[in-house]
Amino acid sequence: MSRPYAIAYVPGAAQGSVRPARKLYDPETEFAVRRFFQIRWPGGFRCPHCGHGEYTEITTRSLPLYQCRKCRKQTSLTAGTIMHKSRTPLSKWLDAVDFLAASPGMSAAALAEAVGITTKAAWLMLKKFRQAISRFESERKLEGDVKVGLRVVAPAWIWMFWELAIYKSERVVAVSASVDEEGNPREMKLTVLDPKRDLEPDSKIATPEARGRLMERTVSQGAKAEWLRERRRFPEKIDKAFKRARTWLVEVFNGVGTKYLQSYLDEYCFRWNVSVRGESLREAWLRLCC
Ligand SMILES: [Zn+2]
Repeated sequence: MSRPYAIAYVPGAAQGSVRPARKLYDPETEFAVRRFFQIRWPGGFRCPHCGHGEYTEITTRSLPLYQCRKCRKQTSLTAGTIMHKSRTPLSKWLDAVDFLAASPGMSAAALAEAVGITTKAAWLMLKKFRQAISRFESERKLEGDVKVGLRVVAPAWIWMFWELAIYKSERVVAVSASVDEEGNPREMKLTVLDPKRDLEPDSKIATPEARGRLMERTVSQGAKAEWLRERRRFPEKIDKAFKRARTWLVEVFNGVGTKYLQSYLDEYCFRWNVSVRGESLREAWLRLCC
């Protein structure tokens, strides 16, 4: 009888290298394991239970397990991550990150075709990514000089009407942006408002409670926040950034229904904020997985 797994003590593994003693995985899986290991533990393995750095690698059929040499608890690369219990192989997750980071955004059908998975699997993957993005974005609050005001996402034909009235197909979005001395937005958040709860009856004016909630949700306590009155012309540089988000919704996704609008806007802001910070979108996206 063969054992279901092979225990391999890897000398030097404590320094963070992944070197399975024998090749149980195909090259794509091995590559993905190595990559996700680096992202999850950039300074070398840390036991999630006790923080110890030495481990024994247990090579199971699906993916390696890492057993802490102090507390003996086992952990996997995917435990506690968005990839946990996913039926999609690790290498496909890595491919998906590559395609998503290299494109302005992808529908589930396009991602499925690019990666070679079912549309349902791609849809689930995108859902997990967007949940991770929304969590990441909600944890970051805007600092410094912050401007907040309302804009509208709506079909083009609606613009000819009175600017304060609200129409059925319009979605009112709060734009919060921290700006530098020249007024350039440096970080942006877009929040969809609920017309029944957040707006004055039949208008595009936020209630005082909604403003309070919005400030609390997007702006850090030490920031200097200014609420831009609805009627006033929006600062052009912030408006430009917002309009790009609106174009993105139409060009990449052919428009997005109200139910999913917030998570798509979060994805837009995530991409936009990463690029303004000058970071690699691919690395940022990989960190969402770990
Ligand atoms: Zn431990």
